[in-house]
Amino acid sequence: MVSRGFAAQINNKKILEVSRRAKMIIIKLSGDKYLLIHLKMTGQLIYVSASGKVAGGGHPINAKDFSLRQVNKFTRVVLNFTDSSRLLFHDVRRFGWLKIVNIKQFEKIIGAYGLEPLSKEFNLQKFREILQRRLQAKIKQLLMTQELIAGIGNIYADESLFAAKILPVRLAKTLKPAEVKALHSAIKKILHLAVAVGGTSVNTFVHPTGERGQMAEKLKVYQRGGKKCLRCGAILHKIKLGGRGTVFCEKCQK
Ligand SMILES: [Zn+2]
Repeated sequence: MVSRGFAAQINNKKILEVSRRAKMIIIKLSGDKYLLIHLKMTGQLIYVSASGKVAGGGHPINAKDFSLRQVNKFTRVVLNFTDSSRLLFHDVRRFGWLKIVNIKQFEKIIGAYGLEPLSKEFNLQKFREILQRRLQAKIKQLLMTQELIAGIGNIYADESLFAAKILPVRLAKTLKPAEVKALHSAIKKILHLAVAVGGTSVNTFVHPTGERGQMAEKLKVYQRGGKKCLRCGAILHKIKLGGRGTVFCEKCQK
């Protein structure tokens, strides 16, 4: 959950910069340290300003006795700032983590990640090369392999494959050139859309009605197993693939 000596290392540090790599949040601290945060499957970061304004992101938590702006039974870490504002880290299943590393460790961790799918470097040729490296892999699992492509999670892997009309269980080697092209552009399109509307579950907590982020409304297959395909009307299937829930349409994904 947190690295050893976490409190002592973060005490009295200043936040210099916030960025992201793959699914990891990077907070550069004074004293040449980096705070790395991974929300994993159920983590949520909530910032409460001194005047009580709330902003945050991550996974929605549906629990009766849960208050996002206060310490609750899911709160794992609280960072208190000098202006009386604070950052809460809630996590139901405790897979998320916060880690403090030095520059050397930071560069090593960052170097292990693959291409950013929204970067210019992630062009069609590069995508073909990535597929060549794992020809025997099922395409969905390949998309989620962070050392190859950094930052495609379960939701966006399912959505990209649906958009490209490719079954998630297909082996990479069976993809035709036209399918590779369609999948490459679907990934870019879906991730751009997700960023533009603020992610899938971001903003959940600031909304009194508990509505999910706008991306949730744009999802075509994720969490729609057993419902009708929005493209052809067939019933969507749900399977487990690499331990993750996977939804697809057997009729319009080939
Ligand atoms: Zn369909």
